[in-house]
Amino acid sequence: MGKTSKDKRDAYYRLAKEQGWRARSAFKLLQLDEEFDLFSHVTRVVDLCAAPGSWSQVLSRVLIKGEKFGRTAWQDREARFRQQMLNVLPSITSSDPPKPTEEGIYAPRQPERSTPGDVKIVSIDLQPMSPLPGVVTLRADITHPATVPLLLKALDPDYDPAARSSKQPASQPVDLVISDGAPDVTGLHDLDIYVQSQLLFAALNLALCVLKPGGKFVAKIFRGRNVDVLYAQLKIFFEKVFVAKPRSSRASSVEAFIVCINFRPPPGFRASLEDPLGVGSGLPEMAEERTRQLPVLADALMQNPGTAAWDVAPSKSLYDPGKDVVEVEAYDETNNLDGSEKDDIKWIAPFIACGDLSSFDSDASYQLPDGHVSLDPVQPPTAPPYKRAIELRKAVGGSYGKTAVKG
Ligand code: SAM
Repeated sequence: MGKTSKDKRDAYYRLAKEQGWRARSAFKLLQLDEEFDLFSHVTRVVDLCAAPGSWSQVLSRVLIKGEKFGRTAWQDREARFRQQMLNVLPSITSSDPPKPTEEGIYAPRQPERSTPGDVKIVSIDLQPMSPLPGVVTLRADITHPATVPLLLKALDPDYDPAARSSKQPASQPVDLVISDGAPDVTGLHDLDIYVQSQLLFAALNLALCVLKPGGKFVAKIFRGRNVDVLYAQLKIFFEKVFVAKPRSSRASSVEAFIVCINFRPPPGFRASLEDPLGVGSGLPEMAEERTRQLPVLADALMQNPGTAAWDVAPSKSLYDPGKDVVEVEAYDETNNLDGSEKDDIKWIAPFIACGDLSSFDSDASYQLPDGHVSLDPVQPPTAPPYKRAIELRKAVGGSYGKTAVKG
């Protein structure tokens, strides 16, 4: 597909180049922020699977440069408009100017952030990433245990793995962990979903080690079979779990994002670098602690010690209408593939489509304006795997024709 043709078919690809983003993924994070106000009260962030770096760009521009996008920009415009109206009103009425009815209703929204000096952003990827202002970049594999001390050191320069217990979590925890991890997609759905879930699991492990209570976790998922059970497992650690689909993510793709709000580790939970999720030992007890909120999950885990929640198919199903489970629902599904009449537990997290309805539809093609000039990508991939493949083919004298690269 030529550049102009791609500009036409993918409005976000075109916009990313026009607005200086390294990848169209920037719009996914911006649209998630629009819905969930992700960056409020946030100064310390970890961006996992970050290359080429458009999410880190968003973090850098919002948290360090103080730029406003989406909801914050809209609220600022509204506050300015209200202020202008307030200035005009006294001149057209003889009475006293109206007083704000609620505290700050006419005041511009104060960014609930600290000064840029307090901001810490650490980004990790297998691929090298070009530097960004105020962002510490690490080249590492998030599934490798050696990455955890690397991250802790980047977050806290005083961290000394030799002096401290390797089980000790970060002393200066972070407010937000985001992960856009995706494997090189093979097209074999089950395999792609499996590998992606491993990235998600690694991202969650890292998040549990570094998040502070009240923190947030956002990660890409490929919605596959049994993903509902994963949502339930996340509910053990976070007060709210949503599954969100930004408008910039193609409707035709299985991709979505889990948005977990208010990290509240269960009593007794201690992040460990070796066994961070407590899978196999601690999790059933933690689930029991959450019994009031999630009785089915706790039951299932207690009956199947040593299993991760997503492997559990408990023998009974319950529906708890309790306050904390209003967004989580369990139901029976009796038609199993093996034909047995077994009840599987499915957990339905609220699904939120986000992004302004007036924003571009990522599955539609748009007419380009007259005289449109197609721009080059802001940041060509630094060391993409296909580059090496082309070199190898060249070396053996083969033709390499068209190389399909997923945008
Ligand atoms: N959020 C990025 C942005 O806005 O530019 C795009 C991320 S891209 C969709 C997925 C990234 O996951 C790739 O850069 C890939 O190198 C990275 N990745 C895949 N497996 C990884 C692993 N095990 N450890 C670290 N990064 C990984």
